[in-house]
Amino acid sequence: MKPLSSLAGMAGTPQSVEYRVGIVGAGPVGLALALRLSDHGIGSVIFDDNPGLKREGSKACLIQGDVLEILDKSGCAAQVHREGVQWTHGNVYIRGTQIVRAQYELGNRWGPFVNISQYRIEQILLAEVERRADIEVCWSSRVEQLEERAEGVTLALRRQGVDQTRAFAWVVACNGVRSNVRELLGVNWLGYRHTSQFLITDIRAKLPFSKERHFHFDPEFNRGYQTIIHPQPDDVWRIDWQLPPGVDVERDKVDGGLERRIRAVIGDVDYELLWMSVYRFQQRRAERLVAGRVMLAGDAAHALPPYGSRGMNSGIQDADNLAWKLALVMRGCADRSLLETYHVERTAAARENIDVTERTIRFMVPANPVVRLRRRALFVLARRFRAFRRFVNSGTMAQPHRYLDSPLVQPPSTAAAVGRFAADADLSVGGQPVKLRSLLGRGFTFLFVGDRPPALLPLPGEAPRALGPLPVNAVVVMAGTGSGPVAQPSTPQLQWARANAAVLRHYVAGRWHLVRPDMHVASVFDGRRADEFEAALRHGSQAFAMAARLDASAQPDVELIAA
Ligand SMILES: Cc1cc2nc3c(=O)[nH]c(=O)nc-3n(C[C@H](O)[C@H](O)[C@H](O)COP(=O)(O)OP(=O)(O)OC[C@H]3O[C@@H](n4cnc5c(N)ncnc54)[C@H](O)[C@@H]3O)c2cc1C
Repeated sequence: MKPLSSLAGMAGTPQSVEYRVGIVGAGPVGLALALRLSDHGIGSVIFDDNPGLKREGSKACLIQGDVLEILDKSGCAAQVHREGVQWTHGNVYIRGTQIVRAQYELGNRWGPFVNISQYRIEQILLAEVERRADIEVCWSSRVEQLEERAEGVTLALRRQGVDQTRAFAWVVACNGVRSNVRELLGVNWLGYRHTSQFLITDIRAKLPFSKERHFHFDPEFNRGYQTIIHPQPDDVWRIDWQLPPGVDVERDKVDGGLERRIRAVIGDVDYELLWMSVYRFQQRRAERLVAGRVMLAGDAAHALPPYGSRGMNSGIQDADNLAWKLALVMRGCADRSLLETYHVERTAAARENIDVTERTIRFMVPANPVVRLRRRALFVLARRFRAFRRFVNSGTMAQPHRYLDSPLVQPPSTAAAVGRFAADADLSVGGQPVKLRSLLGRGFTFLFVGDRPPALLPLPGEAPRALGPLPVNAVVVMAGTGSGPVAQPSTPQLQWARANAAVLRHYVAGRWHLVRPDMHVASVFDGRRADEFEAALRHGSQAFAMAARLDASAQPDVELIAA
């Protein structure tokens, strides 16, 4: 880390370090982080240089169902889902001929994707932030300098024109792609900026297109280039053009070129232009996500092209990954080395995102005339023959990263579930329909899936168990042995559920899984010996000790009611 300039002499040098997290940036990632920290009992202060949320049309327009699971833990998913456009099919066309109609699995209660503006998501997150007493938001507050000391980080702020300082035990920079915090830390920004220009317009119009993703290669209305059309709520459509070199959009606006461009796509339909901007995307990541007591998240940590919808979505996943680790460290349950696993896991995720989008870009923007010619030949073949269509790369929609090379994932990691975002399943608990994921993500969960009861239970008795601020619970899912309820009363600590055999596709039958607070599976183990539970928890959390020791009980007394 580059040495930080001294803040000595600044007005209002703080006397004490606030034992909260200082968050720089009130974009979707900063807001989501504050909420997840609050869910885990940790307070925070968010600083943003704008006077309030900034309405910008051309940012994220799509949130993934798996990321809505994260927002659901903070009570924000249902509204996003209700207001957004839910879609399950993506269409790919070459010169107007449809070559692919892909169906994405529903997978969870939110569906694969919901289209909605980033601004609306931010509004919903902010409304929840304002309901939480342990989150303070400081608008018109620009972080201009920072200095790390042994016990915390001092932020030098310009707040409504006045200089002041505040100090926090930990600081997370969620301040976007141009993060000055990243620069102040001297963290390398690896990667490159692409030269192709893209134009985004958000228009309001009643269009005859199905409310799905439409990806056009080489269409009549953008010969030789790509155009993507995405529905938004309230008859708003996002149209995203790759522009030929040399197009001057500002001039186009004046001389009618933009009007002609839009008309070529939508025809003679009334429309209102709500937003227009031109962008060149980047493929970058910060070399370090943890620098002393400062962490980077969201666009401050990685800048990605919009293909596959990875920017905001992966930023919210960063926040979820970091929040529980900070909670354990701040409550003195784990050493600060746990935060290093944030760097390891989320760097691996950023790398995967960059690798996948790099392949898409190479296909979309051929590097030279030979590659362009090869692509043209592929287009001819793909329009006629199904076998060639899988080589047409229109972007791969993102999946939550599978953490394999992580110190928190317990070897052997060969079981398919290990490291993955826990798959959802339809359960019946006490005769009521319940989604498995609704029982996960508030703390650590021991999850058993099998067709006969487990040999041992990790959490006997009524007393709540916790790892510092994070509750520890258990869920036993009896799968495939009939559809009747399990005659075992559930408690908040131990839920008994019934599911059909489909759940066994995602979990290892007859074994225990430790699911982390970010709903990734840390390990799979037999659970035939009492000490295996505590060992799994120690490995998956790197915590020093349990607030209450786990004592696995003997063979549970379970009566199964056959269907
Ligand atoms: C055209 C386009 C389309 C996109 N489509 C998608 C999509 O469909 N899906 C998807 O997942 N992502 C998409 N993205 C990416 C997405 O918009 C970003 O990933 C997202 O905004 C990142 O959120 P963030 O909170 O990290 O940063 P930001 O949203 O950039 O928020 C950072 C905040 O920090 C503030 N700030 C900056 N510096 C300071 C400072 N020193 N002090 C105080 N405050 C500061 C800024 O004013 C800002 O409010 C798209 C992006 C673009 C440009």
